[in-house]
Amino acid sequence: MSSAENNILTTKLNEVIAWGRKYSLWPMPFGTACCAIEFMGAVSAVFDISRFGAELVRFSPRQSDLLLVLGTINYKQAAILKKVYEQMCEPKYVIAVGACATCGGFYDNYAVLQGIDEVIPVDVYVPGCPPRPEQILLAIVKLQEKIEAQARGEIAKDVKRAAPEILYSSKVPTV
Ligand code: SF4
Repeated sequence: MSSAENNILTTKLNEVIAWGRKYSLWPMPFGTACCAIEFMGAVSAVFDISRFGAELVRFSPRQSDLLLVLGTINYKQAAILKKVYEQMCEPKYVIAVGACATCGGFYDNYAVLQGIDEVIPVDVYVPGCPPRPEQILLAIVKLQEKIEAQARGEIAKDVKRAAPEILYSSKVPTV
């Protein structure tokens, strides 16, 4: 017969909330170029983003807590991106997908923002031109780990640019 201590689970309220939050992210794609096509792959049946609890894609910032920036952002779009980010409710998260969103990519010119973190805070950076759908899924897993670590108090809630997750292709798991 099992003892009571083997049948009682204790936890903290904020950790339970974080557990629910990390498995029910509502992503909003801010797609401006080719990387957005890879996001379509990530939500397709082949890669199946719903395995990670993030399949409820919304196209309104007011209904989303995860902003995925997919593509080249020029300076005229930067103000719009900032406005979209500001319309999201807290807690909110940002993944910069691809070289363009991360650092401007090969568009090193007067018109293109050299990384979205010049205007909004970023939680996870995904390199690649374009990154594969698996890398987008890995970014979501990394974000989930970050949400959990924030709930445990291992990293501060407002740490974004200072401690970003950077995903290199060598770490990408196969599906
Ligand atoms: S990183 Fe490459 S694939 Fe992605 S939007 Fe820029 S040019 Fe296109």
